[in-house]
Amino acid sequence: MRENHERYARQVTLSQIGRAGQERLATCTVTIIGCGGLGTVSAGLLTRAGVGRLRLVDNDRVELSNLQRQALYYESDLGRPKAVAAAERLRAIDGDITIEPVVARLRRSNAEKLLRGSDLVLDGTDNDAARYLLNEVCLRLGIPWVFAAVDECYGLTMAIVPGLPPCFRCVFGDPLRPRRGVGTTKGILAPIAHIVASLQASQALRLLLKDGNCTQGLLYVDAWEGRLERVEVKAHPEGCPSCR
Ligand SMILES: [Zn+2]
Repeated sequence: MRENHERYARQVTLSQIGRAGQERLATCTVTIIGCGGLGTVSAGLLTRAGVGRLRLVDNDRVELSNLQRQALYYESDLGRPKAVAAAERLRAIDGDITIEPVVARLRRSNAEKLLRGSDLVLDGTDNDAARYLLNEVCLRLGIPWVFAAVDECYGLTMAIVPGLPPCFRCVFGDPLRPRRGVGTTKGILAPIAHIVASLQASQALRLLLKDGNCTQGLLYVDAWEGRLERVEVKAHPEGCPSCR
């Protein structure tokens, strides 16, 4: 093991992680799609937790309006590709971790290439089209993924595990009939993005450590009202084309 006894001293003592778990995390690859309000926070947490390899996928550049909520970026990053700027900050946190920035947008044509080889994928996108694509490709490749979305003061997150319905489509329905999804308005309270990304990172660690029943259902959080609810969700009763 790397000389990280001191770095992880407060983590390996957790019964949920332990020394074996820490060693396991160092062997894992996590792909984060989107380096915005969610992805920058989850990437920071997983880097600090000692996940060995992170692939960061984002096609956008840092804008002034991002600094209100997106961790890892500074005024000096304005105009830089987010994936590159985020990778630089994460390497400054831990130079032993492999960070792979990819300046690209997730598309049907590149999804399999971007996701293949991951132990886990995190949703840091801001649109449902990308989430249905993540659901389809991750299930096909047998990779668990963690959905997350925020809008205004509330957010949602749910782990989707191949072979363990429900999947994203079971819960949110047919992609051909898009609902008015979360992440479609312009307002986002910064703390909700950090809270939901933190819950997403917690689920990510459990999934990577294969900790029992990792699926917690759909978590709903309202940061303004101070509410956290677990919504029970079920596999589609008539069979879901994505996860059956
Ligand atoms: Zn399904």
